[in-house]
Amino acid sequence: MVLMNDFKRQWEDCRTEVAAAIDAVGSSGWYILGGEVERFEQALAEYWGLGHAVGVANGMDALEIGLRCLGLRPGDKVLTTPLTAFATTLAIMRAGGFPLFLDVDANGQIDIDRCRQALRGDPSIRMLLPVHLFGLATTLPALRELAGEFDIWVLEDCAQSIGAADGQMRAGCVGTIAATSFYPTKNLGALGDGGALLTNNTEIAWQARRLRNYGQSSQYVHDELGLNSRLDELHAAVLRRAFLPRLPRWTDRRRAIAEAYLGGIRSRHVQLLEVQSRSQAVWHLFPVLVPPQRRDAFRAFLKDGGVASGIHYPTLVPDQAAMPAGRFSIIGELTKARQFAASEVSLPIHPYLSDAEVEQVVAACNRWTG
Ligand SMILES: *Cc1c(COP(=O)(O)O)cnc(C)c1O
Repeated sequence: MVLMNDFKRQWEDCRTEVAAAIDAVGSSGWYILGGEVERFEQALAEYWGLGHAVGVANGMDALEIGLRCLGLRPGDKVLTTPLTAFATTLAIMRAGGFPLFLDVDANGQIDIDRCRQALRGDPSIRMLLPVHLFGLATTLPALRELAGEFDIWVLEDCAQSIGAADGQMRAGCVGTIAATSFYPTKNLGALGDGGALLTNNTEIAWQARRLRNYGQSSQYVHDELGLNSRLDELHAAVLRRAFLPRLPRWTDRRRAIAEAYLGGIRSRHVQLLEVQSRSQAVWHLFPVLVPPQRRDAFRAFLKDGGVASGIHYPTLVPDQAAMPAGRFSIIGELTKARQFAASEVSLPIHPYLSDAEVEQVVAACNRWTG
């Protein structure tokens, strides 16, 4: 079976460095907020080309802490996308924000023109939380223009887009804060949960450091109500010593696989996304679109051909049962988002796929006759 992720192969490749990282932390006798977290934060900030990285417990907390650092007050409106991991919206709501959902573009990314209309129509909207879904980062130039037009804070959800770029612009460099996740399936995944915020703003970095640690400004001094959301020394050590050095190679491999899919999949019943800057996407996922009424059959056909697949995402966030009526709203119709949610299938694209497996995926898609 061609898997969506293959952690066993990753372990075979990385075990020596991971074991050394664990040994280094164990023998240091220091497990929370020490040198490993600091050194990983420095390495990550350097990789990303931003001034500061702050390690936290997971990607959702990175978003929540980020919104609080931007001064989000209870009831503040936050423009965001309905087509994303539920955690994006959950972070807004946990921070006390009021999510406003807008439709997406043809690639499933938040529609920047609709954002502009919404911001023109309601000057009380001060925050924008776009998601660079699938690792594409296609909205960056338009996002920068938008951020220049309005007096708004932008927080970029880069959980799926570490290392993605569009021209000279890198995902996470338009907003005041970028948030990312080290959930194991992410492009830079830990052996468990983890996340980080990145920013060029020194004061925000310090506030994030306080908020992740009970809101403590110095030992036993609490000036605000924070979280317990620290990145462990163990995860930081594994990330910096074993996984971050492999990230450029992993990203290259994802890009090579994406090129093979884009060039090789020719079934007219399987629609590829039209991504202009596709060479700079990091392809966290590889989405294709099929007619909604044939999606289950297509996935069963792939499975018969030994190919696993996923759906990202089957249900829009505002349609989830947990969303409390009156605590969010939808601006306009979510036509494209609904169409995308009903049509999307994710093909395997992890960095440990062999060439033969990539060919197997292409062949299975090309055998599909709709
Ligand atoms: C994974 C993910 C998150 C949440 O990250 P966690 O580390 O699981 O909390 C948020 N947003 C997006 C787009 C994600 O893919």
